[in-house]
Amino acid sequence: PTPEHLYGAERRNPIGRDYSILEQRGWAARAGRVLDRLTAGPIVGGKSGADGAPVVSPSDPSRMLGHAAEATTADIDRAVNLARKAQPRWDAQRGHRRARVLRAMGATLENHTDRLVAILAAEAGKTLNDAVSEVREAVDFCRYYAHLAEKQFAGPEMLKGPAGETNSLELRGRGVFVCISPWNFPLAIFTGQIAAALAAGNAVLAKPAEQTPLIAAEAVRLFHKAGLDPDLLALLPGDGATVGAALVAHHGINGVAFTGGTDTAWAINRTIAAREGPILPFIAETGGLNGMFVDTTALKEQVVDDVVASAFGSAGQRCSALRCLYVPHDSADALIEALSGALDAAVVGDPADPSTDIGPVIDADAQKMLEEHEARLRRDAKVLYKKDIGDRPGHYFGPVIAEVPSPDFLEREVFGPILHVYRYDSADLAQVAGKLAARGYGLTLGVHSRIDRFAEEVQELVPAGNIYVNRSIIGAVVGVQPFGGEGLSGTGPKAGGPHALLRYAVERAISVNI
Ligand code: GLU
Repeated sequence: PTPEHLYGAERRNPIGRDYSILEQRGWAARAGRVLDRLTAGPIVGGKSGADGAPVVSPSDPSRMLGHAAEATTADIDRAVNLARKAQPRWDAQRGHRRARVLRAMGATLENHTDRLVAILAAEAGKTLNDAVSEVREAVDFCRYYAHLAEKQFAGPEMLKGPAGETNSLELRGRGVFVCISPWNFPLAIFTGQIAAALAAGNAVLAKPAEQTPLIAAEAVRLFHKAGLDPDLLALLPGDGATVGAALVAHHGINGVAFTGGTDTAWAINRTIAAREGPILPFIAETGGLNGMFVDTTALKEQVVDDVVASAFGSAGQRCSALRCLYVPHDSADALIEALSGALDAAVVGDPADPSTDIGPVIDADAQKMLEEHEARLRRDAKVLYKKDIGDRPGHYFGPVIAEVPSPDFLEREVFGPILHVYRYDSADLAQVAGKLAARGYGLTLGVHSRIDRFAEEVQELVPAGNIYVNRSIIGAVVGVQPFGGEGLSGTGPKAGGPHALLRYAVERAISVNI
């Protein structure tokens, strides 16, 4: 159920789909016929540019899905100019006018669910269930930020002051926001950043991940179709090193929102810091070294379900995903055996097949990085399980469970279906958890225990933005589990939370002597 206070008048959850039902599979197949003809050039002022390079599927790189062209410096300049001209009018409108456009976008996304699912499965290798969840999350972002726009951008809020004076505080947009989004949620995070920036009264220059330009172009076209002035949202696809770097260095921008790797966040932060002119806000959501601590009171079956979902769901390609499981000596063998059994039963395969549990990883680089990490685990740790997935044409990686010799064996996030397990002594909990915390990340944290004190102790020892007790650590729901980390994991404010729009806005205090 969707609590009314979170969504205002729009209380309905976005539609779901079950593609294992034959009829719904038919819809998917029809929607999939568009694949091979998609284009994703820059979209500036509502007009699409040239065709560009082929985009292929990670599940079968011989399958061409469409074409994507990189934005040029001229595209960027033109987009900035149009955005700067259109933004003041948009910002001068009260939040409820902007909310109307965002709600229309929510409905438009919902009406295009099958087509969006088909593109997500083909371009990003998302399983059908993950793709449906992603479309629903994108809809949630539009509706939730529409609600926040109505509530927080309704006009000046009057404040108490001395007699003879009126005092008020108002939130206004900052200007032009650059939104740089990742390939692992190429629709939900892409749409979420844009919806937040727009809700707060900004214009947006969106740079999608280079791996997933097609779904981004689709979303931008839908925003325009839903009634957004095309000058307020441009799509500028391309590499981070070229297009991304040019965007964040541009003198016409007023803020940057970024979701992706910690290294890229550092690079953007340095570029922003080195510029002259206004001091820009930077909203970053980055990686995590996410741990889950289990004690001897935890229910084994529940732990297994939640660990498999957290570590191997979405092929481990979520920043919230579980990277290191901490298990007490007494439970370790039985748990590892059950986890291996669960992975034996999991189906790794074509993401567009409804029976698939785990799809491909995003590209050849990701596959190579995981293979190299597996080689390191075989050398310096102990591989306990490796799923045999046979020979496949796509970028697949057989899930791995490895036992590591120290609680801080992982120095950095390894983005994919590899679970690291560390056996600990209950007496050493503080020391073990402290070593994980000392790595400096702070995104998600899991605890499985029937003792409240244990859960509280772990939370104190390992600071994290999203803490999950006796459940999986993935799949934060907009408005329900506001999402985002601390330290090396990001700046906040949390996506899908009540404070999400505040950094996209300036505050104006107006004092009138009457
Ligand atoms: N919000 C997603 C989740 O809770 C993760 C987002 C990401 O991977 O960037 O699983």
